[in-house]
Amino acid sequence: MEALLPFLVVFFIAFYMLPLIVAMNRKHTNTTAIAVLNVLLGWTLLGWVGALVWAFSSQPAAEEAATDGAAPEKAVPKNLGAASDDLKDCPFCAEPIRVAAIKCKHCGSSLTTEAQPA
Ligand SMILES: [Zn+2]
Repeated sequence: MEALLPFLVVFFIAFYMLPLIVAMNRKHTNTTAIAVLNVLLGWTLLGWVGALVWAFSSQPAAEEAATDGAAPEKAVPKNLGAASDDLKDCPFCAEPIRVAAIKCKHCGSSLTTEAQPA
């Protein structure tokens, strides 16, 4: 039994640090925070399970896109979403244009109906 003790200690430490190992393997963005949670609260079962779940949890979209290119869930740039509020469709070519535009940038049609000379 005494001969097995070092192996048991190593096994226990490896098992105890499992959340951190998983986080490092997955190149998790919060690896440092997971390490802190793992080491400081790992002795409580809740802290250990929480760190493990966190290590397996999904990462920001940018990180996932960089690693495997799948899951293009919200790859739309932020400024595009804000600008889409003042966008309308061109009545001539149906392309999205600015509401304030007086001339379509896609088809070149004039969009000033009221100020347009007959
Ligand atoms: Zn147009």
